[in-house]
Amino acid sequence: MKRIALIILIAILFSACQTGKKKELEKNTITVSILPQKYFVEQIAGTQFPINVMLPPGSSPDDYEPTAKQVQELNNSLFYFYVGHLGFEKSWMKKFNEAVKDVNYISCSNGIDLLRGDEHDHQHGEEEVHKHGTDPHIWMSPENVKTISRTIANALSRQYPDKAAEFEANLRTFISRIDMLDNSIRTELNDTTHNSFMIFHPALGYYARDYHLEQYSIEYEGKSPSTAHMKKMVDLARERNITTIFIQTQFETAKAEAIANEIGAEIVVVDPLAEDWLAEMYSLTKKMKTALGD
Ligand SMILES: [Zn+2]
Repeated sequence: MKRIALIILIAILFSACQTGKKKELEKNTITVSILPQKYFVEQIAGTQFPINVMLPPGSSPDDYEPTAKQVQELNNSLFYFYVGHLGFEKSWMKKFNEAVKDVNYISCSNGIDLLRGDEHDHQHGEEEVHKHGTDPHIWMSPENVKTISRTIANALSRQYPDKAAEFEANLRTFISRIDMLDNSIRTELNDTTHNSFMIFHPALGYYARDYHLEQYSIEYEGKSPSTAHMKKMVDLARERNITTIFIQTQFETAKAEAIANEIGAEIVVVDPLAEDWLAEMYSLTKKMKTALGD
């Protein structure tokens, strides 16, 4: 029902777009997919643009559906900086592209060395195929966030050439703060005892790659784990001396808790979708250092 209403709305917006040439001049909203991207845009442009965040706080990026108001906001947007491979983007970007045409759709995955991720795709017919998708969590890497911020700054500078110097200066300041963060992470994780960590939803693949860590995910191929996978994780946790299991509150926690009970591990909450990205990265690193044994 909700979906039908949205399709009708998209149709209305579509016809509105065709006649709304004048409206283009008033557009100044920037749409992003997740809260950390709002933070990135604000580092570069301050708060001069209204920002429409598609994924509301606390919801899961996989089963989310945009509200009518958000689609309206998208229609008022100059840009949509999307992440690139998030679950909900996969199902919605094509519809957005078709319904709201005069928006600059820019993928924040441009120029990033992408990791393969765990994904399970069912194909209709007799065959069931296992397909490896792309790990969407690009923003959990300081190095990647420099690239993302560059993408955003370039797009905004093209649109507002008179503000290009301001955006460029802000970008440089942000990049130097990211470099400080990166140095701090390297120092903090330099002399840890272990390098393996366990997490319910595998949001730290890029972080693990940057800092030479090994991520083990309880969630398996994007699904809640089977008993067999749970057992494998318990064995693996014992073998690798894992004493902490990271969880994110947007996802179910019961199975992570079951494994934690079984091996006597501590549950620690991290929040990759936090708006204050920089603070979250420092906080995550402190928790990681403790988990890996300092
Ligand atoms: Zn995720």
